[in-house]
Amino acid sequence: AQNKRESLYIVLNFANEYFQKVLHNTDEGKSIGLSYFKERGFTEETIKKFELGYSRELWDGLLNEATQKGYNKEILSEAGLVIDKDGKNYDRFRSRVMFPIHNVSGKTIAFGGRKLSSTDKSAKYINSPETELYHKSKVLYGMYQGKNAIRKEDNCYLVEGYTDVISMHQAGVENVVASSGTALTEDQVKLIRRYTENVTVIFDGDQAGIKASMRGIDLLLEGDLNVKAVALPEGEDPDSYAKQLGASGFREYVGEEAQDIIRFKTKVLLDETGNDPVKKAGVIKDIVSSITKINDPVKRTVYIKDCSDLLGIAESVLVAEQNKILIENR
Ligand code: ATP
Ligand code: MN
Ligand code: MN
Ligand code: MN
Repeated sequence: AQNKRESLYIVLNFANEYFQKVLHNTDEGKSIGLSYFKERGFTEETIKKFELGYSRELWDGLLNEATQKGYNKEILSEAGLVIDKDGKNYDRFRSRVMFPIHNVSGKTIAFGGRKLSSTDKSAKYINSPETELYHKSKVLYGMYQGKNAIRKEDNCYLVEGYTDVISMHQAGVENVVASSGTALTEDQVKLIRRYTENVTVIFDGDQAGIKASMRGIDLLLEGDLNVKAVALPEGEDPDSYAKQLGASGFREYVGEEAQDIIRFKTKVLLDETGNDPVKKAGVIKDIVSSITKINDPVKRTVYIKDCSDLLGIAESVLVAEQNKILIENR
């Protein structure tokens, strides 16, 4: 089994080098892939740092190259690089710009591939499937490139996507990881905790994303992290906004606008309820439930007081609700 893992690392490393070689050294890679990255404002240095690549417009670009080099189809398929359909093999990633995903020690364990044009009707991103090396729920994109900065700054920015992480690095903000568009998991929270106890969640400037991410936030609280949140202005994501403001402007915005997560959540939810009493009761239960996830009773008391003001509800009511939840979960 050890041997098998070793072979998977080797073939994934080969694929990573191949996709980069195609991006930088072929006409197709340069005219399509490299110009795509350049149009997005990524510098040569950034492209190299994140080992970005390109997969050719072929069914067997990687398959062909890899089998010539002696890699067999089974290992390519187990690495998630090649699809095996009724004995027919073909490349999983075709005509896409490639984002390798690394483990914390810097080994390539998977890829994300982005389509190049909006006229392409297939999924915007295709990711490697779960493999022996890649467990999506345990990985955060950018942790390898960002871990030293996260430790040094003693804070981790949490964003949504690959390009958010990359543009923030290019702007000079390196303490950042991405959840890659899915709900956060307990293992990912533990991973962050290896480097810092402080997390700032940065939301795209669209309301839809914010509500969907509220579940992951309880996990951060349960993991005993200090969590802040900030929403970017309408229409901006960290990618666009870091490009626009640069490191100091970006840090300044986040520093000034980030709020404690419970306050943030309370405001977001209250915004949507208006004066509907039934909805408001739901919000109160939801917020108290989040507060109850916090293990430290002193912190919980402070939050109850704070939310009592925000919600316009007596502290005693919130405490009663909290006790109810604590008893139910005992
Ligand atoms: P871009 O700026 O290139 O459009 P993005 O990161 O802003 O990329 P979003 O649509 O905001 O893209 O998605 C956030 C993240 O969710 C992506 O970076 C990717 O990891 C993941 N994702 C998005 N679409 C898909 C998809 N169809 N399948 C799997 N993962 C996806
Ligand atoms: Mn986005
Ligand atoms: Mn989004
Ligand atoms: Mn984007």
